[in-house]
Amino acid sequence: MSVATQPAAADPRFENAAIADMKRIFSKQQATALQWRTSVASARIARLDKLRDALLEREEAIKAACAADFGKPEPEVDIGELIPILAEIKATKKHLKKWMRGERVWPTSLMFGTKTRVRYEPKGVALIIAPWNYPVNLSLMPLVSALAAGCPAILKPSEMTPESSRVTRELIAATFDEAEVAVVEGAVEETTALLELPFDHIFFTGSPGVGKIIMAAAAKNLTSVTLELGGKSPTIVDETADIERAAKGINFGKFLNAGQTCIAPDYVYVHETVKDKFIAAAAQHLRDTYGEDAGDSADYAKIVNERHYERISAMLAEATQKGARVASGGHTHEDKRVITPTLLDAVPEDARVMSEEIFGPLLPVLPYRSLDEVIDFINAKPKPLALYVYSGNRGNIKRLIEETSAGGSCINTCTSQYLHMNAPFGGVNNSGIGNSHGKWGFKAFSHERTIVENKFAATLLMAPPYTDFVRRLIRIIKLTLK
Ligand code: NAD
Repeated sequence: MSVATQPAAADPRFENAAIADMKRIFSKQQATALQWRTSVASARIARLDKLRDALLEREEAIKAACAADFGKPEPEVDIGELIPILAEIKATKKHLKKWMRGERVWPTSLMFGTKTRVRYEPKGVALIIAPWNYPVNLSLMPLVSALAAGCPAILKPSEMTPESSRVTRELIAATFDEAEVAVVEGAVEETTALLELPFDHIFFTGSPGVGKIIMAAAAKNLTSVTLELGGKSPTIVDETADIERAAKGINFGKFLNAGQTCIAPDYVYVHETVKDKFIAAAAQHLRDTYGEDAGDSADYAKIVNERHYERISAMLAEATQKGARVASGGHTHEDKRVITPTLLDAVPEDARVMSEEIFGPLLPVLPYRSLDEVIDFINAKPKPLALYVYSGNRGNIKRLIEETSAGGSCINTCTSQYLHMNAPFGGVNNSGIGNSHGKWGFKAFSHERTIVENKFAATLLMAPPYTDFVRRLIRIIKLTLK
């Protein structure tokens, strides 16, 4: 059973009941966590199988919910919601036994005479807080890792996509006992109440601003956190790039889900000698993909709600008032909550599209002359979640990767890093803390416990009383470490 709390409850008795329910589920999950400490791989894999089957059974319901919430086209539900979860389950099932074995480590000279291993033990009860842009994926992908690591979990999906949250709650309630996995729906108030509980790990996906609130709340209980955040992800197209390929790749990564993707290119720096060619190729490709007005296309998502529609429309208006030129798109359809894929040229540096995460279908295209100015610009800003390079020049690629910092990067493609379950996915500082996916997701919910077993360890020889012999021995050991 799961809890469906009403948003912004006015009646304090209701609030108390909702909080009491959260506490009741939490304490049941604490008992489960103790039982699951010794759970074997086959039991964890059985839970993943149940999750996969429940997901496949509800494929149509999930597609209908995502369409109702923000007109997400069916193939984009497959690409952005179902495929990543299925891929994560498959990769996790394949490797879980090996991950759970932990690691044997060689003794250092000081540890001579010991046998040591690192055991990945389940952290305990997890809280997973998800955003709205890939509402099912970003609730269930971390759950795959939690279950693989042996952790029960409470999921808190986003209030901004109510249909997707409802489907997620129903899926979980029909598949797991609330002592194993439960969904608590709600907004700030409910999340704040959940954050009072002493979870063993919090996995949060959302904005950097809310990430700080989560981390501060976690600090009160010294709860570990994984923060998957956002930011402005730069893309660089140099003069040696295959322009057609760059235009198509960037359009796909940017305008999928109407630009409401954490790892979408936020702005593109294009070498000044190929900037016009890039804009022409990208504009043509957008026309070929969505027609003259993407507002009429079934392959293009809506903006999630009026607040975000207003926010993005205002950013577009501000940029054009300050002198930016709409090179493609720029149509706003308030009745449908659609903003068409928009390429912006001649964007002034003080426009809001250049300081805030856009998180919508506006793409500033900026010319550059030397890589130095691009690298300086990127390094002057908070570290992004992603950085993409389109280039045929190994030297340029090397410089852009080595002289900047970002959560992840792709070369001559974009956003693909998300689908790689054999590599970590995460941000750095402002774009996130910790990693997810595959083994890194499993590790996020696991404590790495070192277990040193004594065989004929010499460390006791250094114990008091500190006789001349012991002191001489300590001096010799220090000498061997130089
Ligand atoms: P958000 O931070 O506003 O909300 C995320 C979650 O936090 C929601 O469940 C929400 O209910 C809760 N929340 C919001 N305010 C809160 C508060 N004051 N106290 C406690 N909980 C609160 O993010 P969003 O608008 O849902 O999503 C967009 C952001 O998420 C963007 O910045 C995007 O880049 C980022 N994002 C990151 C990833 C990633 O994997 N790194 C993936 C998707 C989205």
